[in-house]
Amino acid sequence: MYGSYYNFFDPTFLLVIAGLVISGLASAYVNSTFRKYDEFRSSKGVTGTSAAEYILRSQGITDVGVQQISGNLTDNYNSGNKMLSLSEATAQSTSVAAIGVAAHECGHAVQDAKNYIPLRLRAAIVPVANIGSTLSFPLIMIGVFMSWNQTLINIGILAFSLALIFQLVTLPVEFDASRRALAILREGGLLQEDELVAARKVLVAAALTYVAAALSTFLQLLRLVLLFGGNRNRD
Ligand SMILES: [Zn+2]
Repeated sequence: MYGSYYNFFDPTFLLVIAGLVISGLASAYVNSTFRKYDEFRSSKGVTGTSAAEYILRSQGITDVGVQQISGNLTDNYNSGNKMLSLSEATAQSTSVAAIGVAAHECGHAVQDAKNYIPLRLRAAIVPVANIGSTLSFPLIMIGVFMSWNQTLINIGILAFSLALIFQLVTLPVEFDASRRALAILREGGLLQEDELVAARKVLVAAALTYVAAALSTFLQLLRLVLLFGGNRNRD
């Protein structure tokens, strides 16, 4: 019966494929949405970098640096070294897409400055989730080869579920950063109404990639439960 796991036609493998398809579609969608609204020049004409620096100042944040990094949509905020990194396409572009993404990262800096609980929670979960997802598969395999030690297998499955918890905690952090970004852009007059609508579309597309990642991890967890959860007859 262990053979079923190695069987290429293992039907639960469809769950993994579904997860990959969902993630792939979300990633393609955010890329095409960003490209589309990267053609939409903002009337203010500021770059992503200038917008970020302006927003941070306007929020009274003086201890965060802004730098440019390589890569596609690699924009991020690191609360550890207080560094807001913008990819080339965001940093140098004056499009509503670039300003929207830059403002979103500023949203994370604001969360950090205001001790937004989900952000702290996420930071605390990161190391645990990393260890969990690294150990989960070896634990399950060892459990299987130890004459199907269900306790060890269950610990392995629980370890994997930490990765899902991390991704679920990420969702409010991401949605909140975008909400803050759009509010700041409106208040600060960095974008006009029609530009805000476009920036929101880019940020919604970006948020969908996090939803897709969580869904994909859930499907992998479901697969582990279907394959290894519960006691089994080993005949
Ligand atoms: Zn974010």
